[in-house]
Amino acid sequence: MNSKVAPANKIKTDLHEILDVRHINDTTFVLRFERKELEFEAGQHICVGPPNGIHTREYSIYSAEKDEYLEILVKEVENGLVSPSLKKLQKGGYVVVEEPVGYFTIDNNSSVDQEYVFIASGTGVSPFHSFVLSKPDLNYTLLHGVKYASEAYDANVYNKKSYKLCTSQDKDGDFHGRVTAYLKQNSFGKEAQYFLCGNCNMIHDVYDILEEQGVSTDNIHAEVYF
Ligand SMILES: Cc1cc2nc3c(=O)[nH]c(=O)nc-3n(C[C@H](O)[C@H](O)[C@H](O)COP(=O)(O)OP(=O)(O)OC[C@H]3O[C@@H](n4cnc5c(N)ncnc54)[C@H](O)[C@@H]3O)c2cc1C
Repeated sequence: MNSKVAPANKIKTDLHEILDVRHINDTTFVLRFERKELEFEAGQHICVGPPNGIHTREYSIYSAEKDEYLEILVKEVENGLVSPSLKKLQKGGYVVVEEPVGYFTIDNNSSVDQEYVFIASGTGVSPFHSFVLSKPDLNYTLLHGVKYASEAYDANVYNKKSYKLCTSQDKDGDFHGRVTAYLKQNSFGKEAQYFLCGNCNMIHDVYDILEEQGVSTDNIHAEVYF
């Protein structure tokens, strides 16, 4: 098998065989591929690209720390350079994968009672999927903002009481409206640790609301996708 390794002090890249492609709806899919020797902490991301191209993009790791494989949750962006090519890949093909990086992780020394509030838009739910699968005892609430309930990717993984699907364009979620509206009506307090992931407009708006609610910026962690 072809594999290329970057010179010392550069990020390593390698080809990983695709083990499965699971289409969740028309645009979004879970790509599962060989893990090889890659170690990661839930919340980190990897750069992934098609095997024959020169471009890669960042994707949060969707699978759990102890899984034998790696998974990413990808939404195809119309006319995008990388995501439409990833969508065409099939089991038995290959992806280029770079080493896991990033600091959007949970402090392993936190008390077992620590409350976490995860706030995602769209595929920004991916690192939270990895958190919840990797650390089953977490005391969390996950607010997932999407347009339609059909974008509730793998919602069965989450504790039903802890998962709030906020749908802005239909009424089939747990709350009709954006995560920002939910948060204005339901505050979680100053002691919680807040993790925000997804598009930058949502992250800015949530930041403002949390600051108005008196939450210290030390308790707010953000991963901006675009
Ligand atoms: C740290 C990090 C983690 C990420 N994790 C994920 C992930 O888990 N899953 C995932 O699907 N994406 C994730 N992304 C976004 C991903 O890296 C790409 O930007 C996305 O797949 C589009 O790439 P593209 O080459 O197809 O489009 P491009 O040709 O790069 O971009 C086309 C345009 O689409 C915009 N865009 C990017 N993403 C979206 C989107 N979801 N919806 C609408 N417009 C968008 C870009 O800003 C750009 O203007 C992450 C980004 C970062 C920085």
